Amino acid sequence: MTSRTKIDALLRSAKPGIEVTVKGWVRTKRGNKNVNFIALNDGSTIHSLQIVADPTIISEETLKQVTTGASIAATGMLVESRGAGQSVEIHADSIEVLGIADPEKYPLQPKKHSFEFLREIAHLRPRTNTFGAVFRIRHAMAYAVHHFFNSKGFCYWHTPFITGSDAEGAGEMFRVSALDPKNPPLTEDGEVDYKQDFFEKETNLTVSGQLEGELGAMALSDIYTFGPTFRAENSNTTRHLAEFWMIEPEMAFYDLNDNMDLAEEFLKYLIQYALENCADDLAFLEKRLLDEEKTKPAIERSEMSLTDKLKFVLENDFVRLTYTEAIDILRNSKPNKKKKFQFPIEGWGTDLQSEHERYLVEKHFKKPVILVDYPTEIKAFYMRQNDDGKTVAAMDILFPGIGEIVGGSQREERLDKLTGLMDKMGVPQDELDWYLDTRRYGSAPHSGFGLGFERMILFITGMTNIRDVIPFPRTPGSASF
Ligand code: ATP
Ligand code: MN
Repeated sequence: MTSRTKIDALLRSAKPGIEVTVKGWVRTKRGNKNVNFIALNDGSTIHSLQIVADPTIISEETLKQVTTGASIAATGMLVESRGAGQSVEIHADSIEVLGIADPEKYPLQPKKHSFEFLREIAHLRPRTNTFGAVFRIRHAMAYAVHHFFNSKGFCYWHTPFITGSDAEGAGEMFRVSALDPKNPPLTEDGEVDYKQDFFEKETNLTVSGQLEGELGAMALSDIYTFGPTFRAENSNTTRHLAEFWMIEPEMAFYDLNDNMDLAEEFLKYLIQYALENCADDLAFLEKRLLDEEKTKPAIERSEMSLTDKLKFVLENDFVRLTYTEAIDILRNSKPNKKKKFQFPIEGWGTDLQSEHERYLVEKHFKKPVILVDYPTEIKAFYMRQNDDGKTVAAMDILFPGIGEIVGGSQREERLDKLTGLMDKMGVPQDELDWYLDTRRYGSAPHSGFGLGFERMILFITGMTNIRDVIPFPRTPGSASF
């Protein structure tokens, strides 16, 4: 058997005049009784390859089974194509149907399906052009993440998915238990006795690898995590998943400015990598977005194409300003004065909502924004307390169309300050004794941040719903596949 060539490799280094075998899934078949044209896609590229099948060579019985969705192997001569839009095609000597797809039942017809419908068939949607492109880019971005940190001497640090502390995510964690829910052992008070559970304590799925990430940084200097993160928050938005992937670098001896510099360089690197390595898929998604924009009323249409947006972020410095400055801008903004915000900006100290973040980025600055020095009360206990006594060295990066894409901070390395805030916020010290040890022994200034991987993929692909950039989304009420 001739060995199989992937379509991507074939189109890149196509030399007409050789015999090749390709394997993939039929996108469409058209033609007449004299000739059939089969568009074959194997997922290695957005492009399908045309197979020309002559009914005097390929049996009618075989051709009947070559329908949309069927899997086939085709062998034949690679020749220059006379058709528009493709350089080469295969003139088939033989076609083997590997798996039929009953045209009466196959859910993916060769027409436009809505993303809502495709989410219901998430097991098949990777076979569409849009999802093929999104998931190839997702792969490329994962590779680029590792490449970026490896080239800077960071260590890929694996933090646990099962956590025994609920310091960070109280109330929004998924419980992990091996107890029989119908008949759990009880304490004398009638509570579930987790001492008899697998880990002999209450455990949950992690909401962040940061605390354990800090332990790595306090020994290896620079680490990053890249793994799944779980949040049982009931926010049914286009930017939240119950299971998402997060990249969390943590760097010893970095202050907040070093932290911001690294985050900006990292985001730009990922965009650059996509532009250089995912051009065909981006071109397809750019056109998709353009078509989608055309269906919107003129005032809502974006003036920039997908590539324009990516290049714009690449070529401009992110705006850096304090939370306090942002509040001033927002308080005096038109939508606030005209009461257009769902959550009006009244005073200093409240958390910013996504509508505020997007106003700053999309309307006011028209650039990515890094907000720093948030009020202590609305941020986590581990953020470094500023000298003003009311803010912490936090930084959030806000992106157009997305809102918050990165959340980070310089960490509080001073034991007394840290425990002081923990007490004030009601974070139990005994549970985090291991964490506090890093402040007791060889404590050092350090910083880190978390990038939501899917939010970055949203930005790069121009997709609008986070459910459409992860193969199998987990959201409230939905855990199929
Ligand atoms: P948001 O305010 O948007 O809910 P957050 O403040 O809860 O975000 P962090 O705890 O700082 O977010 O997490 C770091 C990053 O992880 C965020 O900047 C975002 O990119 C991503 N992220 C947070 N929650 C989710 C989620 N439910 N689904 C997908 N990504 C998320
Ligand atoms: Mn959140």
